[in-house]
Amino acid sequence: MSQTASPDLLKKSGLAKKLVVANWKMHGNLEKNKVLLAQYIAALSGLKQTKIVVCAPYPYLAQLQQLLQHTNISWGAQNIAKNAEGAYTGEVSAAMLKDFGCEYVIVGHSERATAYCESDENIAQKFVQAKQHGLTPILCVGETLIEREAGLMELVIGKQLDTIIAQHGAAIFADSIISYEPIWAIGTGLAATPIQAQAMHKFIRNKIASIDKEAASRLKILYGGSINPQNALQLLVVSNVDGGLVGKCSLEAQGFEKICAAADMAN
Ligand code: PEP
Repeated sequence: MSQTASPDLLKKSGLAKKLVVANWKMHGNLEKNKVLLAQYIAALSGLKQTKIVVCAPYPYLAQLQQLLQHTNISWGAQNIAKNAEGAYTGEVSAAMLKDFGCEYVIVGHSERATAYCESDENIAQKFVQAKQHGLTPILCVGETLIEREAGLMELVIGKQLDTIIAQHGAAIFADSIISYEPIWAIGTGLAATPIQAQAMHKFIRNKIASIDKEAASRLKILYGGSINPQNALQLLVVSNVDGGLVGKCSLEAQGFEKICAAADMAN
């Protein structure tokens, strides 16, 4: 029989606090980032209940460190090498991310998994690299439209999680983040419905809880895929939705501020 983490346990562990992660993807430049970050800081410094993270392209991590270090906004990267060090041209290691004050790193985003043929095994290695170096991985999982239409969502996501569990056990998910990102919802303007999100988040939490209840209670599960100021609240109040991963709407401060305010309200 599967175990589920009780709401009380979640509250005690601090998981009631929502998390909103901005994924800037390959957008920005020094000048634009400076303006956007100043707007973020002005708009979001009052938030007490919601944790904010910005994941930027590698060249701008130094800028994030400089401009965000004394604020309530944390930062991270959008990818990480699967190896710790060595002859891997073009790769960036976990230790390098730590040098620039990163606390978080996105792992296995579908845009990378598709374009650069990242296998579940590679993604599992990246996840472990992050954990071993004290970074919080944000593991992206999700199904394609064809897989959803065939009713294969749980099978696909179960396999993505099983690859990590088989190598490192479910305990590795304690203090980690999983972002449920239906691929058909990313950048399309077509978000999952709250009912669809609720079902998948419950599946993910229960899957981890069935092996390690403690790890499941210390895991945050975000929703990502066309979150916008209009749909944010209805998605973020859903049970087992601990926050959101926001792409397009993080590139414009007003919209992002509204999404963060919705998260604060949903706490
Ligand atoms: C993403 O890239 O993770 C994402 C959720 O993008 P968007 O919000 O633009 O759908």
